[in-house]
Amino acid sequence: MLPEGVPFRFDSARPIQEKLITDAHNAFMEKKILLAHAETGLGKTDASLSAAIGAMLKLEPQKTILFLTPKNAQHQIALEVLRGLNTKFDLKLRVVDLVGKKHMCADEAVSQKEGRGFYEMCSKKKRFEACTFYGNSKGYDLAGREKAKMGKTEFVKFMNGIFSSEEIKEEAEAFQLGLTPFGLCPYEAALELAKKANVIIADYFHIFSPGVAEQILPKLGKKPEDIILIVDEAHNLPERVRGLLSTSLSTFNLRKAREEALFLEQKVLAEQLLELEKAIQQFGESKLSTAKEREATLKMQDLTSAVKASIPHLEEMALDCERFGVDYLEKSQRDSATLIGVGEFLDAWAQEIEGQVRVLKKWGNNTNDYSLSLKGLDPSPITNKILSSVHAALLMSGTLHPLEMYADVLGAPKERVRLEQYASPFNPKNRLNLIVTTVTTQYTQRNESEYDKIAAHAVEIVNAIPGNSIVFFPSFAMLDIIGNRMVEKIPRHVLRQREGMSIAETQQLLQEFRGHAQAFGCVLLACASGSIAEGLDFPGNQLLAAVIVGIPLAEMNLETQALVQYYDHKFKQGWHYGYIFPAMGKAIQASGRVIRTPEDQGIIVFLDKRYAWDNYKNCLPPTQEFTITPTPLEDVKRFWKERAGN
Ligand code: SF4
Repeated sequence: MLPEGVPFRFDSARPIQEKLITDAHNAFMEKKILLAHAETGLGKTDASLSAAIGAMLKLEPQKTILFLTPKNAQHQIALEVLRGLNTKFDLKLRVVDLVGKKHMCADEAVSQKEGRGFYEMCSKKKRFEACTFYGNSKGYDLAGREKAKMGKTEFVKFMNGIFSSEEIKEEAEAFQLGLTPFGLCPYEAALELAKKANVIIADYFHIFSPGVAEQILPKLGKKPEDIILIVDEAHNLPERVRGLLSTSLSTFNLRKAREEALFLEQKVLAEQLLELEKAIQQFGESKLSTAKEREATLKMQDLTSAVKASIPHLEEMALDCERFGVDYLEKSQRDSATLIGVGEFLDAWAQEIEGQVRVLKKWGNNTNDYSLSLKGLDPSPITNKILSSVHAALLMSGTLHPLEMYADVLGAPKERVRLEQYASPFNPKNRLNLIVTTVTTQYTQRNESEYDKIAAHAVEIVNAIPGNSIVFFPSFAMLDIIGNRMVEKIPRHVLRQREGMSIAETQQLLQEFRGHAQAFGCVLLACASGSIAEGLDFPGNQLLAAVIVGIPLAEMNLETQALVQYYDHKFKQGWHYGYIFPAMGKAIQASGRVIRTPEDQGIIVFLDKRYAWDNYKNCLPPTQEFTITPTPLEDVKRFWKERAGN
């Protein structure tokens, strides 16, 4: 039975879903942080939002539910659940869908700008009072500010309900046609609606980007303790936060920034930028002098000491870069200023924070160009701060395993954390997990005959599948080496993911792949670290088998080594937390593409003997069964024969 007062949009919940709802509801009522490994098909979005709304309706003072996802595409399902609950229970929920400013921007010319260029162009338009939508939202003078304030009050009354980011943007479009009176900047409008919202659907960025939560929550009139936080697909969180803590600078960009400084006739700054470029080049020439030496670590002082004579304080130069970057935007016809990025990098470089590694690399094709990267290794200073301060939280994913690692890596407050796993609600007979122990892509055993053996196994498996299959390789290089051995021996269409494919090209590839499911089926060769391995649905007969070749371990570069050392020092778990678990997470994600609905049937083959070793096997979901076999073809044939007989 569901906890009292918890709304659910369907007539009943499955027992395992009911358990998740109950656990989540209890966590929200008792100020806990629940980490939930909940397998695909469990209905996590329904369960989490029902539990949170049930708690929200009881708690005093009332809380706001913040539902965070790593991608905008996942907002739709949350909106659908909330609309269903609103209709069924007449909850009168106010819900706002907040996506990145660029995706909400109503100014077509600005919204087409990429990356940093978008933000700089938006700032420029605001400073020049050239954005009508911003003027309507904030006002450019006293009278304008008064008018904007009244406009926003009316807007919030008018937009009372559940609104997607597209619907909020449509208001600005309707204004341009003279159909509505508001014409607010959609991003500002969404923030305005969020002040009164019961549920805010947003991106990880809005809370986990350094400094953003501190800005955005007060802007919305919310305190962290007012928030019930739900983090969807939470296995992405450590890597995403590491990315937000990382930054880089190339000598190429230093030259561009210097040109901007010269344009502004800032000779001192131009000279300093030249000194920086020379210093980085000298590091490159001394530390990366041979073709074999591709990267080297640096310390913060290495750079500050090398340029001390001309740049006594890097932080001051950082401020100058940012200030003159803004100046450059105003005085030039350009939409972006490299100076701003250089300033941000120097500011970050000048700070000594635990859990960072600084890496010098060769950059681009020009042999004289180098880059410096500052990589964040430890997401916990950010995530711990958020998880410790919110009222309660649920972090959930179909691959949040091992839960203890996620609790450690994210710094989940020990006294409040609960770890739970929830098995798949699907019939286990619909899925066959095989581990093949006769081959490996282990570095020390890579040779032509091993590649031949792997290719032979993969070919015999995909040829025995009565439809579409995907073979995932640990890298694009391995895809070429082993994939090339397979193509000739597969008597059906073979598609191939290529490194650097654009989103549109990948979509086209997937469309073609799905199309083959209606005919004889085809084989897609893909990379387990690429976009096809994660977050995609192939329901029904779109995908009947996934073969995971090898283990998608990260390259043992300086960053990976630093991560291993860091977690060794912090948890005595460096090898696991920094190397094995992230790779196993990718393999499990790739394997998760096959069974997406209760009706789906399929096979997952892990083609590497290491999957049977304790170190690796312990990372596989304990909620599933795995058969170890040296002869996968027999198991595959038996599985499909039994299916055909049913
Ligand atoms: S203020 Fe809003 S509408 Fe104007 S450019 Fe920026 S994001 Fe676009």
